[in-house]
Amino acid sequence: MFLVKNRLLHISSLAVFSFLFYAFSQLYFIKNLNFTDDIELLIGEGVNLPARWIGTKDVSKDIPILILAGHADSQGLAGAGTSGEAVDKLGLSPMDPDISDELFWNLKLQESIVQLGQERGLNIRSYDPGIRNIDDANDPRTNWSVGKKFSQNGGYALEIHFDSYGHYGVGAGLIPPFHEIPNKIDESIARRFGRFPVLFRGGLGAPRRQIRILEIGKLEGSLEENLRNVKTRQRTIKLLSNAIVKAFLDGLNRHAVSNQKLDGDDTYLRGIYL
Ligand SMILES: [Zn+2]
Repeated sequence: MFLVKNRLLHISSLAVFSFLFYAFSQLYFIKNLNFTDDIELLIGEGVNLPARWIGTKDVSKDIPILILAGHADSQGLAGAGTSGEAVDKLGLSPMDPDISDELFWNLKLQESIVQLGQERGLNIRSYDPGIRNIDDANDPRTNWSVGKKFSQNGGYALEIHFDSYGHYGVGAGLIPPFHEIPNKIDESIARRFGRFPVLFRGGLGAPRRQIRILEIGKLEGSLEENLRNVKTRQRTIKLLSNAIVKAFLDGLNRHAVSNQKLDGDDTYLRGIYL
């Protein structure tokens, strides 16, 4: 009897000890995580270029949305996407030796946006060419070919990117399509992330195909740290995808947008001039 009691006491004190240890270790980790759920801090400063376009065009509530992961088909020497500050400057190992760190995160975020978007009732899907190096941008399997077709059929195609670190990058923001009037989804995303001029770098390959580009933020500092740390990774990806899905939902709710002012620098160009 005495022995049984003693054993019970032993077991319960072990349980109490384990519980306390767990509780304190959690507290310790949370305190040392450096996790920020401030989206503004994570995405950093938005692009600071003159852009005064305003997306005023209404969008049908069930518009098909396509999310593309930037650089998914261009893992050659040029156009592979940024390696990020951690690899390039700090000498850390890439997340996956076969692809750039940018693509690694683009793919993770793409999946999260589509999953969350579907849960929230968006008509949203993703496309991944699977083949990581397609030389010809006009090959029918590339992001851009599929996105172009999707847009031509009345859908909204968005290619997500993380920008380069330091002075190599510009910052967060949306690059609108080249010869289409920006709509209320464009406006909503631009308000959240920032606004690039329509003619940014002479009109990049994607916007010329009516595919929007979203630069989420520079792959550096706390954004990259929070993504790389396995303890904060999921929360960070969720935080970002939630901000993007919310921007879609806000744009589709047709919030009033005032002040339809376009200027010469960044006015969309009509097809006739191109
Ligand atoms: Zn990119």
